[in-house]
Amino acid sequence: MNADTFGFDPAEILVGGTWRAPEGGGRLSLEDPSRGAVIGEIARGTAADIDAAVEAAGAALRGPWGALAAAERGRLLSRLGRLVEQNIEHLATLEAMDVGKPLSQARADARALARYLEFYGGAADKIMGEPNAYLPGYTVYTLREPHGVTGHIIPWNYPMQIIGRSVGAALAMGNACVLKPAEEACLTALAFARLAEEAGLPAGALNVVPGLGEEAGAALAGHPGVHHISFTGSVPVGAAIQAAAARNVVPVTLELGGKSPQLVFGDADLDAALPFLVNAGIQNAGQTCSAASRILVQRDVLDEVTERMAARYAALRTGPADADLDLGPLISGAQKARVEGYLSRGADLELAACGEVVANAPGGGHYVAPHLFAAVPPGHPLAREEIFGPVQTIIPFEDEAEAIAIANGTDFGLVAGVWSRDGARQMRLARKLRAGQVFLNNYGAGGGVELPFGGIGKSGHGREKGFEALYGFSVLKTVAALHG
Ligand code: ADP
Repeated sequence: MNADTFGFDPAEILVGGTWRAPEGGGRLSLEDPSRGAVIGEIARGTAADIDAAVEAAGAALRGPWGALAAAERGRLLSRLGRLVEQNIEHLATLEAMDVGKPLSQARADARALARYLEFYGGAADKIMGEPNAYLPGYTVYTLREPHGVTGHIIPWNYPMQIIGRSVGAALAMGNACVLKPAEEACLTALAFARLAEEAGLPAGALNVVPGLGEEAGAALAGHPGVHHISFTGSVPVGAAIQAAAARNVVPVTLELGGKSPQLVFGDADLDAALPFLVNAGIQNAGQTCSAASRILVQRDVLDEVTERMAARYAALRTGPADADLDLGPLISGAQKARVEGYLSRGADLELAACGEVVANAPGGGHYVAPHLFAAVPPGHPLAREEIFGPVQTIIPFEDEAEAIAIANGTDFGLVAGVWSRDGARQMRLARKLRAGQVFLNNYGAGGGVELPFGGIGKSGHGREKGFEALYGFSVLKTVAALHG
């Protein structure tokens, strides 16, 4: 059933240009979250497979991949981006089946992957060092060189987008990659690798080893042959990865999620704000690192914002990915149980509105209707902890100072949004909010492939996306020549 359903065998791994079974032939089952049904099997990659993949990546750097001109690398990535575009429907269908996201969101993710490849393809030959006006008699300049072998451990919520921003940037910079997708969702990583082969990526430049986090993931994070690790996922696993990398003195980029606020002031254009307030909470059923799970509202517009958000919530429909409704299911039974645990901890709160799970949603699917809570105290667990589900909290504030204190009052700092017509306030808040990105009178800036992204505090460190990612995936070398 495997190959017929997906167009390829998802139980194979890619190492050094060869698709094969993992060592020992282990497999994990693949679940469709919309139905809770097993629909195939994926490989259970092992530490031995990670060894082989790291070896193959090293060989690629010493071979044809390492010898390619930057412009050639760029052309190759651009070609890959065009292939992704031509295969959007296939990729989106796989992602919808694997992650449970509504088809139109899966299509948008595939388009974003293509755009990352276009962007990093175009940037590959525009990364330069700089001359340095040093002492007389010297000529000094810097070079930007790839780290070498880069490890990419990615989650299940946005596989295609994260492959684009992480593997796309690393390849553009000339690194060779070992990608460990999440055990819950690795189909598009495998499909992407096949397109990369079709685009002509040399063997070993991209290796893909699905498997369990504590097996293949841990082996990659602690591998002495890896020169940089980029990780997107949960805080405890990020900390474990940083510790493992530290033993080899290897740099890491960590993107660990958040509890991002949008601040709505009394002078805001509420018509403009409303769709952003809701969408940033329910997109991908709230399983988004940058979800705006906290909506901070100034008291003079609190009733109006609560009522208008509640009206939108009441119309939201949740159902299977292929029905393409507002929300799909959560990724797994475990995630559903986690979110429901938070909902019961919210039993003491005022529920402003709850969306609907459609009546014909398949029984085994992991559905949770979206919940909006009103007038939540900022210290409540639902207002402080990352839930990773379709739950938003409205938190009232009196004035700007209180809004800043509440917004900055969690351990996280990924993204923040401000809605206000007061330009001076926008500028003040842009400086005062603890976040890696601040959006003024918008939220998300339409995806923002070009915009550096990452957190502070428990949201992680390092920056992905934009040109900045290329710096992250490179090492600066200084060359100083004394010629008299
Ligand atoms: P989520 O909570 O979103 O599932 P995780 O942090 O558990 O996020 O997982 C994100 C990625 O990290 C997945 O690819 C997973 O397999 C991997 N992972 C989980 N545990 C470990 C670990 N101990 N070492 C390395 N990678 C891991």
